[in-house]
Amino acid sequence: MHDFFRGKTAWMATMHHKEKWIGPVLEKGLGLTIKPIPGFDSDALGTFAGDVERPGNQWETALLKLDGARELMPDSDLFIGSEGAFFPHPEMPFVTRNLELLILKDFREKVTVRARHIENGFPLWESEIRQWADILPKLENRNFDEEGLILKVKSGDKWLVYKDFDRVEDVRKAYEEFKKTGLPVALLGPDLRAHRNLRRRQNLVLAAEDLVRNANRFCPGCGSPGFSSDHFQQGLPCGWCGLPTRLPKAEIFKCLRCQWEQEQALPEKEADPAFCDFCNP
Ligand SMILES: [Zn+2]
Ligand SMILES: [Zn+2]
Repeated sequence: MHDFFRGKTAWMATMHHKEKWIGPVLEKGLGLTIKPIPGFDSDALGTFAGDVERPGNQWETALLKLDGARELMPDSDLFIGSEGAFFPHPEMPFVTRNLELLILKDFREKVTVRARHIENGFPLWESEIRQWADILPKLENRNFDEEGLILKVKSGDKWLVYKDFDRVEDVRKAYEEFKKTGLPVALLGPDLRAHRNLRRRQNLVLAAEDLVRNANRFCPGCGSPGFSSDHFQQGLPCGWCGLPTRLPKAEIFKCLRCQWEQEQALPEKEADPAFCDFCNP
């Protein structure tokens, strides 16, 4: 292990205390301390509840948060940001993917370490709520710390969002608020914010472990830490006809300091014909 980050403090743009889960991994792996930036409002940059639009793609959003963080603390150089998203698996639309990104950036040394963790099969669900009885099955044996709930109602073109429930009583109050709106249906689903979702916390820890690995991989061009996966290159040849499919054939590693790129072939040599647009249109 090298000493680039040892003994330093990275400030985290988070208002949901993600440092609690990421911090111990980076402390142990890099000797780096993570502290939350006081008063940072990450909800202004997009939330899962659908009440704020999310700008740009995920890496861009995570980098934006870092820039925003640095504006709050211009005398500090080291910042860490995280960005999570949930969307359908690109090849299996019924499978929900949770993608967790972490970016550690030293603004003075211009060193950026990126990391990610992907979970396919994240349990995502949504129930239509018209009466209290529709909610009851979801309250049985619920541990609000392991999987919190969010109730939302569409009113015109905006969402009314009820969250931060600690007990059944809180859900009941939110339900009564929803009924007062006179709107016919609300949606109930899991709260995906880290402090309200154990599964997501576990994925954040795995992303932090990836960050430690990537911080220990050095750029062949400029020697700085953080040489890591940037994207996948599509075109794995079909096992029957040999034409390129949409499946990845290589992973591209990139240094954000000097832009050095390296292609690394993936272990799969040919694609299942089920993914071939020619053999299986
Ligand atoms: Zn480099
Ligand atoms: Zn084919």
